[in-house]
Amino acid sequence: MTDRIRSMVSRTSKLEFPWNAPPGKGEVTEISPGLLWARLPLPFRLDHVNVWLLEDDDGWTVIDTGCATPELFDVWETLLAGPMRGLPVRRVVATHGHVDHIGLSGWLVERFEADFVGTFAEWIWARLTHMHDVPNSSATHHSYLIRHGFDESVADGMIKSRNRFIDLSGPIPGAITEIRDGHTIRFGRRDWRVLVTRGHAFEHASFYDSVSDILISGDHLLPRISPVIAVYEMTPTADPLADYLASFPQFADIPARTLVLPSHGMPYRGIHERIEELRDHHRKRLDATANSLSVPRTALDLSRTMFPHIEGPDNIGFALGETLAHINYLVNSGVVQEGRDANGRAIFTARS
Ligand SMILES: [Zn+2]
Repeated sequence: MTDRIRSMVSRTSKLEFPWNAPPGKGEVTEISPGLLWARLPLPFRLDHVNVWLLEDDDGWTVIDTGCATPELFDVWETLLAGPMRGLPVRRVVATHGHVDHIGLSGWLVERFEADFVGTFAEWIWARLTHMHDVPNSSATHHSYLIRHGFDESVADGMIKSRNRFIDLSGPIPGAITEIRDGHTIRFGRRDWRVLVTRGHAFEHASFYDSVSDILISGDHLLPRISPVIAVYEMTPTADPLADYLASFPQFADIPARTLVLPSHGMPYRGIHERIEELRDHHRKRLDATANSLSVPRTALDLSRTMFPHIEGPDNIGFALGETLAHINYLVNSGVVQEGRDANGRAIFTARS
């Protein structure tokens, strides 16, 4: 599950990008001694994910893995035999449970008998959502889509599409070394402070090395696109946008000179400027959402206004989720109220 919706935020003039181009397929760029950057292809509109390879005394730590496509297995083989010099992977770390980050973790863990490291919520979430036929899963998804304005046939198509998405994940590891906010974890001959944040995911982990001033930021702080902040059917009344905005102070003591290593896009400096841009982006989207709800509407109807160029069942699903994140925030703030129409659909209206 990715950030396939490019939700604006294109002005990044205050950011500094030390590298002009990403590493080629199966190649790496050295970020710092023993810390390598590889880029993996993805079968989505957002067509790549960055992974970080850290050399330990007895092998490698891998941060994120990409998803299970034939091309990606080939790229991993090239990396393992080439830049990773045939040395074993000792540890697989997941920043979070979305399929482009965790999809091949089980394959790597099993192949090398590696340790799997991540947060508990992301591990459980991935095990539940990347599995077919979880009881009540499709029925819950279906009623959620109907409630928000989809008709039956489109809802059925979206549920089938979700099932295809599941196939992009291999098995998720059966056991985990759990990390929590504030922990220090050592890999790549460095100590990393774990920062666990909510908003893009339930327990997203970033890793900060205060000696080198490097932050592995996963999807939480991307340079050019806004990470998807979305409501999903499992937690329909959640307020992930409030969670996301509340996460920013967790980065307040990270020095401005810190090199940020994001999962999508290019490494950058300017974390605090970027946080301001993201805050500003959501403020504008909240204003636009409230303005559009001066006329009572379903969330689907509003999402077509907020994301006019989105097509395809997966992207429409993400547009709905992102729109609902802004709606739920406004409902909790007392700006918008929810009602029902004669068909039982949720109708949202800005309070006058
Ligand atoms: Zn993600």
